[in-house]
Amino acid sequence: MAEPLILFWHRRDLRLRDNRGLAAARHVSPQVVGVFCWDPGILGGNDIAPARMAYLWGCVAELEQRYRAVGSQLLILRQSPVQAIPQLAIALGSQAVYWNREVEPYGRDRDGAVTQALQSQGIAVQTYWDQILLDPAAIASGSGTPYTVYTPFWKNCQQQPKPAPYAPLTEAVGLSTAQQHQATAAGAIALPSLAELGFSWSQPLILPPGEQAAYQQLDQFGDRGLLHYAEQRNSPAQGGTSGLSAAFKFGTIGIRSAWATTEQALHQARSDETRHQIQTWQQELMWREFYYHALYHFPQLAEGPYRSQWQRFPWENDRDRFQAWCDGRTGVPIVDAAMRQLQATGWMHNRCRMIVASFLTKDLIIDWRWGEAYFMQTLVDGDLASNNGGWQWSASSGMDSKPLRIFNPYTQAQKFDPEGEYIRQWVPELRSVDLGTMLTGKLLPLERGDYPAAIVDHHVQQQRFKALYQTIR
Ligand SMILES: Cc1cc2nc3c(=O)[nH]c(=O)nc-3n(C[C@H](O)[C@H](O)[C@H](O)COP(=O)(O)OP(=O)(O)OC[C@H]3O[C@@H](n4cnc5c(N)ncnc54)[C@H](O)[C@@H]3O)c2cc1C
Repeated sequence: MAEPLILFWHRRDLRLRDNRGLAAARHVSPQVVGVFCWDPGILGGNDIAPARMAYLWGCVAELEQRYRAVGSQLLILRQSPVQAIPQLAIALGSQAVYWNREVEPYGRDRDGAVTQALQSQGIAVQTYWDQILLDPAAIASGSGTPYTVYTPFWKNCQQQPKPAPYAPLTEAVGLSTAQQHQATAAGAIALPSLAELGFSWSQPLILPPGEQAAYQQLDQFGDRGLLHYAEQRNSPAQGGTSGLSAAFKFGTIGIRSAWATTEQALHQARSDETRHQIQTWQQELMWREFYYHALYHFPQLAEGPYRSQWQRFPWENDRDRFQAWCDGRTGVPIVDAAMRQLQATGWMHNRCRMIVASFLTKDLIIDWRWGEAYFMQTLVDGDLASNNGGWQWSASSGMDSKPLRIFNPYTQAQKFDPEGEYIRQWVPELRSVDLGTMLTGKLLPLERGDYPAAIVDHHVQQQRFKALYQTIR
């Protein structure tokens, strides 16, 4: 008797290794076939970044090859998944469709609709938590409610056993020739090019697409950067972070694999100092986890501020100032360097994300949702949960008890780019300017050349912001 066919629907888990749902599917049957669907509802959205699309496209192309190498295939669709997935499963007589769960409201609604359509046809659905380390339902405060503050969340997570990586898919049975014809008739197509999907990106990406590059990067980082992470992570010029955010976003790396790398490094660490470096990275992975759990429990975060009084905050929303921020022409060197890095590479260092977010909200007094949207339109790793969490943290509207966190962009530059290397790299107009002048931003018109004068005075704006904040307390 033929083995039952299981379709595995890939979304943000573009890998064969350490993939929980895929491993479960392969456990049930050798005939496991992958599916990826280009969803017009996502492609047509106004929150798409060309760099992210280029990374995603490269990951799908690589995944196609990996499926071929293990004896099966990845079927490509380009329609609404709510129709396309059931249509394909019915045409192929698939016994079940498996996938890994999502925390985002759009994905959850879509998955509910696909589940209903499949089950109404007698096709089983199996879903798993894969993109996060721990089941959100299992991590709750003493009173049984979801955490809304990071530190107790982190402490709880530290106590939990962490799952080990799942076995990779190394061998599977693909479609017969007859089934391939059925798949084509049901909508399966050849992988469209990035241009056919309506996007282009010609710059190098911070991380090459695909599972292989992501795991190589993890290995290299685990051997070196991880052991110095706490001391180097705040220097945008040194790049002392993993550079893996796009891999986490699209699941070219399994979160359990990343955690296992930290556990192994901890096991081998010879000093408390090294253990501290490694645990600091674990804490960053857990910030991601925290924001994912938060969005899962509080989907309304996607719509606006967590703290309701921020609905009333009188944002000034000056369009020219916003454009200057986007263009890296605010006249504040560290802010402009960071915004230009983002434009040129689709990526920005975490320290700089915090600086530019504070500057947009607290100095320019522009609604954080404008910045959140712009980041989604530009970041290679743009991710609703982490981006929304980062912006709400910076704006002070989120799950954080410190309402008036205001970064001084000049002291931030002095502390985290003391030699001005990062600023010189991204703001070439300032390359020959004296270091002290560059970091304090006190540039004389002759020194500045084409570079603009600061569009706002930090100290004046800080007072202004504080006064406006009093109106919503
Ligand atoms: C305003 C703002 C917006 C942000 N938007 C995003 C976003 O859209 N997508 C995104 O992945 N991260 C976002 N971050 C978090 C963080 O800046 C990036 O994850 C990090 O810079 C990625 O670089 P890395 O992979 O080298 O990180 P590393 O320092 O090596 O950290 C490893 C991984 O941990 C996770 N992580 C680290 N820091 C954070 C954090 N503060 N919050 C959530 N996850 C974290 C990421 O998955 C990251 O890849 C944002 C932060 C801020 C302040």
